[in-house]
Amino acid sequence: MDDHQVKDLMTTINCTECGRRYEAGDIGIVYHQQELWFISVSCRNCGARGLVAALIKEGSNAPVITDLTPEELARFSEAAPVSADDVLDVHLFLEGFDGNFGAQFES
Ligand SMILES: [Zn+2]
Repeated sequence: MDDHQVKDLMTTINCTECGRRYEAGDIGIVYHQQELWFISVSCRNCGARGLVAALIKEGSNAPVITDLTPEELARFSEAAPVSADDVLDVHLFLEGFDGNFGAQFES
């Protein structure tokens, strides 16, 4: 996947404000590392600007468009996968949990 292909892909997306399709000239690549792309869009119709975070896998025509912020997406893409220990922790927590969520969040 190169910049040109990613821009092509973005021209299939509509402006969230006015619904107009983006054109290649409206789209800028902000950041790209492996499958992670941050793409700026600027609608020439209504002027709305946005930042799209996309995970685009080679050989896949279906990018993951997310509403995570770029910071969140970067953080999650670097986070360790959920492990069996994590699942066990939740399991042990739920075993002793009385259903009182309020008490959990009181500080
Ligand atoms: Zn627009």
